[in-house]
Amino acid sequence: MKTIYLDYNATTPCDPRVLASMQPYFSEKFGNSMSTHSSYGWDAEEAVDESRRKIAKHLGVRPHELTFTSGATEANNWAIRGLIEQIRRDEGTRAKIHILSSPVEHASVLRCLEQVEKVYDVEVEYLAINSYGQINIEDLKRRLRPETRLVCAIWVNNEIGSINPISDLVRVCRAHGVLVHADATQALGKIPLDLKTSPVDMMSFSAHKLYGPKGIGFLYHRASDPHVRLQPLICGGGHERGQRSGTLNVPGIVGMATALDLAMENFKAETQRLSALAQQLWLGLQKHFPEVRLNGAVGAERSPVNLNLTFPHAPNPVHLPGLAVSQSSACSSGKVAGSHVLRALGLSEEESRSTLRMTVGRWTSPEDISQAIEIIDKYMRHVRAEMEIH
Ligand code: PMP
Repeated sequence: MKTIYLDYNATTPCDPRVLASMQPYFSEKFGNSMSTHSSYGWDAEEAVDESRRKIAKHLGVRPHELTFTSGATEANNWAIRGLIEQIRRDEGTRAKIHILSSPVEHASVLRCLEQVEKVYDVEVEYLAINSYGQINIEDLKRRLRPETRLVCAIWVNNEIGSINPISDLVRVCRAHGVLVHADATQALGKIPLDLKTSPVDMMSFSAHKLYGPKGIGFLYHRASDPHVRLQPLICGGGHERGQRSGTLNVPGIVGMATALDLAMENFKAETQRLSALAQQLWLGLQKHFPEVRLNGAVGAERSPVNLNLTFPHAPNPVHLPGLAVSQSSACSSGKVAGSHVLRALGLSEEESRSTLRMTVGRWTSPEDISQAIEIIDKYMRHVRAEMEIH
């Protein structure tokens, strides 16, 4: 029996069309895009330039505002540390730097912020969130200070699917001359994302969340109004205009551009289809488990692909045979470490352990959903019967 995959927020399979577009750049067109003394290098350089143009067009930005990275973890780290290092270089070590973020960011933002607090003498504060995990704009207004340089906000939460009010957040920050970095890893290609109405200054993305390959992503950073200057994190041969050295991952870059093309091509119809599947799952589970609770925002403020559900009194439902889902917590050395996101929403450790994240995607069918409901129902009944016996 095949395992039904409902974990598309963790990663997505590479679309065969993405794979086909990448294939030549592993074999006959294997050149180094910086080694432009022959057609090998030219072909690779052209493919990189073309991919950058395609991605920039989808975002409505200029190609040179995109820098390719190994993924969103690197892009998030670079946005934060690159900016701090630039400020220190321009203004010296005495310059006060205050950064605002939220407690429900991805670990690649939270751990990086913890590190810069220690290493660069930077002050970080975390904004209040509402019961859906969205940033409270009034709290943002209260906490902005003359020395606030950056606000880091996740666009769509990877665990609970809530969409942050990014356009309101940018409006407030712009009025105070504060830069905004948005982690759009779970947003781009999944929700309508418009950099004209939400003009963030920096934005991270990773291709493997959108049917592209792993190990490739980008950081968008605005080149004017204002010009965002970042110190490079990775130095070497001066690739990417000296911003991020290292031989370019040409197949990855080509694949990421194809992945974005495909997502945008069929965006509206696919979003509606996915939303209907998530709804089918939610309604089906509610029928079997009237006590099940949805974590995160609802309606237009929620990612169409995400369901994050707490099943009261159902411990560790993650090991569901035949179903791949996530528990909103990470296991390490036999201990279950609760999710920081669910904790920030006020859930107990026990509730957190009884929570499943289920995310639908390109290859999910209505039959998969019906089977998933059956699997969960069977498992829960079994667990409850066991609990009654003991
Ligand atoms: N941010 C968010 C919101 C994510 O979901 C992820 C992936 N789990 C990342 C950042 C990290 O991305 P990558 O895997 O490309 O490092």
